[in-house]
Amino acid sequence: MAGKRIYVAGHRGMVGSALVRRLAREDCEVLTADRSVDLREQAEVREWFTDNRPDAVILAAAKVGGILANSEQPGEFLYDNLAIAANVIEAARRVRTGKLLFLGSSCIYPKFAEQPITEAALLTGALEPTNEAYAIAKIAGLKLAAAYREQYGCDFISAMPTNLYGPGDNYDPQSSHVIPGMIRRFHEAKRAGEGSVSIWGSGTPLREFMHVDDLADACIFLLANYSQAQHVNVGSGEEITIRDLAALVAQTVGFEGWIECDTSKPDGTPRKLMDSSRLRAMGWKPSVSLEEGLKGAYAAFLADEA
Ligand code: GDP
Repeated sequence: MAGKRIYVAGHRGMVGSALVRRLAREDCEVLTADRSVDLREQAEVREWFTDNRPDAVILAAAKVGGILANSEQPGEFLYDNLAIAANVIEAARRVRTGKLLFLGSSCIYPKFAEQPITEAALLTGALEPTNEAYAIAKIAGLKLAAAYREQYGCDFISAMPTNLYGPGDNYDPQSSHVIPGMIRRFHEAKRAGEGSVSIWGSGTPLREFMHVDDLADACIFLLANYSQAQHVNVGSGEEITIRDLAALVAQTVGFEGWIECDTSKPDGTPRKLMDSSRLRAMGWKPSVSLEEGLKGAYAAFLADEA
C-alpha cells in the first residue's frame, strides 16, 4: 500500500466515501474521477485510466436502489452496472493496473440459498426476481474479474458485502433499506411527538448488518492480503430480528413510544446471513458494533438534514 496510487471508483457513494475515509489513514495517494468521467462511457474511462494509471482500483461505483427502483428500471440497472464493470475492469487491464477489487452484493446469491450463504452458493439457483437485473450485472462483473485473472494474469479480486449501513446512506422513505428507513421514521415520529411507529412486516425476519466503515477496512485488508479468483463474503456474522432492530433504532433516536408491525407490508426473505468464515480465517474481523454504528449513522443523518 505504501506510496501506491489507489483509484476509488464511486467515491461519492456510501461505500466509496467510506473507502476514501479509510484510505486517508494509509500511506497512499487516493485518486478519484470528477463528474466529467461517466463510467458508463468506454472512451471516457479509457482516457482517464491512460492519463492517471492507478496502481490499484477499488470498484465501488454502481447504480443502486431499493426494490421499487429495481422493479421500475431493470434495463438501467442491468445496462449501467454492466457498462461500469466492463469499462473499468478492461481499462485497468489495458494500463496494467496492479490490483483491482470489484465490489458486489449479497443479492448475487440464489433466493433459496442455504443459510449461512457460502461463496460456493453462487449460480446454484434462481435469483430473487425483484433485484435480478442488478444481481446479473454484479455476477458478470465478478466473473469478468476472475476471467481476466485466468486469461491475462491480472491480480483482480472480488468482495461481496452483506447489508450495509452508515453515513451517506439513502434515507428516502420509499426506496431506502430498513436501517435508514427506520432512522428517518423514528426521528420524525419523535419530532412530531407521535405515540407509535409502525415498521414493515411481522418483525420476525432475521438480517445481518455491517457498518460501511468495517466494509472499507475489509477491502483494504483484502487488497493487501488476497490474490485469488474466488470472491470473498464480507459480513459481520451477527443476526438480529427486525423487531429487535426497531427497538435499537428507537433507543438510538430517543423515541419512547410504541412499535407496531404493519403486516400488510412484505417481510421479504425470512433470513439472510452470509458465511464469512473464509475472511475470518484470513485474520480479519469487524470492529463496529450495531449499537455504536447506529449512533454514528443517526448523527450523520442529523448532520445531513441540517
Ligand atoms: P431486504 O433485506 O432485501 O429484505 O431489504 P430491506 O432492508 O428493505 O428489508 C429488510 C426487512 O426489514 C424486511 O423484513 C422489511 O419488511 C423490514 N422493514 C421494516 N421496516 C422497514 C422500513 O421502514 N423500510 C424497509 N426497507 N424495510 C423495513
